[in-house]
Amino acid sequence: MKPLAFPNGRRFAFTIMDDTDVATVANIGPIYRLLADIGMRTTKTVWPVDCPEGSKNFSSSSTLEDPKYLDFVLALERAGFEIAYHGATMESSRRERTARAIDKFLNLFQTPPRVYANHGYNRENLYWGADRIDIALLKSLYRRLNGECPDYYQGHRPGSPWWWGDIASAHISYIRNLTFDEIDIRQVNPTMPYRDPWRSLVPWWFSASDAEDVRAFNSLLRVENQDRLERQGGICIVATHLGKGFVANGAVVPDTERLLRRLASQPGWFVPVGPLLDWLIEQGVAGPLPASEWLRMQWRWCADLVARQSRLRLARLSRRQADRRAS
Ligand SMILES: [Zn+2]
Repeated sequence: MKPLAFPNGRRFAFTIMDDTDVATVANIGPIYRLLADIGMRTTKTVWPVDCPEGSKNFSSSSTLEDPKYLDFVLALERAGFEIAYHGATMESSRRERTARAIDKFLNLFQTPPRVYANHGYNRENLYWGADRIDIALLKSLYRRLNGECPDYYQGHRPGSPWWWGDIASAHISYIRNLTFDEIDIRQVNPTMPYRDPWRSLVPWWFSASDAEDVRAFNSLLRVENQDRLERQGGICIVATHLGKGFVANGAVVPDTERLLRRLASQPGWFVPVGPLLDWLIEQGVAGPLPASEWLRMQWRWCADLVARQSRLRLARLSRRQADRRAS
C-alpha cells in the first residue's frame, strides 16, 4: 500500500461523518462545541425539509425547517464544518420532495451537498440494501437477515416515483457505502475514494469506520486503536450519529471527551470528509476498485455486520436479564 504524506507533516487523518438521526441543538450542541475547541473540523449531514406524515423512529429529530436548528447548522458551516446530505427528510421522499430539498440546500448554503449518505429504510436510497453488494450469496443472506424485499430501494431506478439518480449525478460527488469495524479504513479499502461502474450515478464512493452510537464510538477510539491509526499512517472516517448518547445533562460524556482530546493532541490531520477525499484523489490513490479488493470488502462487511448484530442481541438479552433481576 502506498504510504501517504499528509500535509504539514501530519501522521494520520481523522474525521467524522455525523448522520443526523435524532439530532437536535440540545443533544449535539455540546459535542460540536468540543470538536471546534480541539481543532477538529468534521462533516455533519442534514435533512433540509420536515416530514409532515410523521416518523416512528425519528420524530424527535430536527430539520432545517426549525429556525433555531438552522441557525446552529449555518454557524457550524461558518466555523469550517462541512454540511452534507442525508436525504430530504427522515422518511421516504418521492422525487418532488427530494428536488425541493436539494433546492433548499442550494439556496441556504450556495453550494450543492457534495457528500451524501443514505438513511435507514428510505425508499429513495441509492443502491441500498442488498444492492450495496454484488456477491449473490451475500445478497441473499443479507435479504434474509433483514427481511428486505428485492427492489425496495429505488432512488437509482429511472421511472420510479423514488427516482432521483439524475439529481444526485448533478450535485453529489461522494457517497458512502460499506462501513467496517476498523479504525484505519485504508486497511480494508486502500483504493479510496473509488469508482464503481455498476453504481455510476455518483462519481466517487468511500468507506467508513462504523460506530452506531457513543458506546461504539468510544470503543472504536480506544487508546490502542488511536495509537495504531497513527503508527499505520492511516485514515479514519467515522460513520456515527452524534445525537445518540454523546451528550448527557448538557455536557459531552466524560469518556468521549477524554478520548477526543487525546486524539486531537496527536499529530493528526482533522479535516472534513469532502476535502479529505479531494486530497486522496490528488495523491493518486483513488481510482477504479480492483476486483480482489472489492471481493474482500464485501466479505469483511458481511462478517462485521453479523458480528455487530450478534453483539446487539447479546446486549439486549443481558439488559432484559438485569431488568428482571431488578424487578
Ligand atoms: Zn440516518
